[in-house]
Amino acid sequence: MENTIPFNKFHQTGKELLYISQSLEMSSISGNGFFSKKCQRFFQEKYAFNHNLLTTSCTDALEMTGILADIKEGDEVIIPSFTFVSTANAFALRGAKIVFADSKQTHPCIDETLLEELITERTKAIIIVHYAGVSCNMQSIISICKKYNILLIEDAAQAIDSYYLNNGKKIPLGSIGDMSTFSFHETKNISSGEGGLLVINNNSFKERSYIIWEKGTNRHAFFKGEVDKYGWVDIGSSFLPSEILAAFLYAQLESLDQIQKRRLEIWHYYFEELKKWAENKNIELPFIPDYSTNNAHMFYLVCETKNQREDIIGNLKKAGVNAVFHYQSLHSSSFFKTQHDGRQLICADKFSDNLLRLPLYVDVNENRVIDEILKL
Ligand SMILES: *Cc1c(COP(=O)(O)O)cnc(C)c1O
Repeated sequence: MENTIPFNKFHQTGKELLYISQSLEMSSISGNGFFSKKCQRFFQEKYAFNHNLLTTSCTDALEMTGILADIKEGDEVIIPSFTFVSTANAFALRGAKIVFADSKQTHPCIDETLLEELITERTKAIIIVHYAGVSCNMQSIISICKKYNILLIEDAAQAIDSYYLNNGKKIPLGSIGDMSTFSFHETKNISSGEGGLLVINNNSFKERSYIIWEKGTNRHAFFKGEVDKYGWVDIGSSFLPSEILAAFLYAQLESLDQIQKRRLEIWHYYFEELKKWAENKNIELPFIPDYSTNNAHMFYLVCETKNQREDIIGNLKKAGVNAVFHYQSLHSSSFFKTQHDGRQLICADKFSDNLLRLPLYVDVNENRVIDEILKL
């Protein structure tokens, strides 16, 4: 039998070990050194993320936003139910009351038309997720946040190199909210195994972000010569990745354009080849609204029923192709269901039951994936 096609396989650009060995030759391999600064500059130049900090994961970057937003017990945050646990954990850890919102009918992103009715006097932040790298409907989300004076945090874990389109202008996802976070986990487009990025767009969070990043100390100000000794000034933790990881990440960033080109090629091939097949089976293909670009983070199918999804995953598995599903809606998770207020979140549950993801990575054999699907 032919080799099985895994769901994901990380891509090596070829420069990772070279840069890691360069980092080992330098005098220090802890965080915020030569390669961390190269990565930081890359994000500044390519996406105008003027203040960005590398973190050990997107989960950590999200936890930093929870601290920076000064979330306290009794504060409410609005979060889509159909997302990864880290989006919610960052705020649950701070004692926030989590109010889960439904997805759109056409797309797993948060339904912006339902947000206003979820807002109370205690609502402190709305956390949005650009699912599959597809932008949420930013214009109306921004105006709601302005109207009620609520912080906007973008979980852009999946959204590297994707844009919100506003009257022909391309605005990088991650540059819109007060703060945003990215992931470089091995399943994302660009990876350092584990890794993440915090982007600060609201300058009032800038100074404190360094402190929280460096264990609650004013070490950053010390190294800039602003104070003559450093010490404990706030809460914080260890959120910096080592230079070894930053070196790995920089190799990936240098190849970002090639990686994106290849991922988009696979994505469009899947889309074209599956159009007719999906229509015959009442399966939905991914929807990209006209206000968003596509960064080919993910190719998913929305089946008509959970049974249909199970059949497809099972039959593909027999044919050696590993497709997966994900995200049990968080409002019905075993941790949260007793805390949920009972609202039905029909679209989140639909994606939770019916969505499946196809293998999509630089070295995937896309012809074989399609051949096996068309046989179903
Ligand atoms: C991957 C992902 C995360 C977590 O990223 P890590 O870097 O693994 O911590 C958070 N939110 C979303 C939407 C993700 O897809």
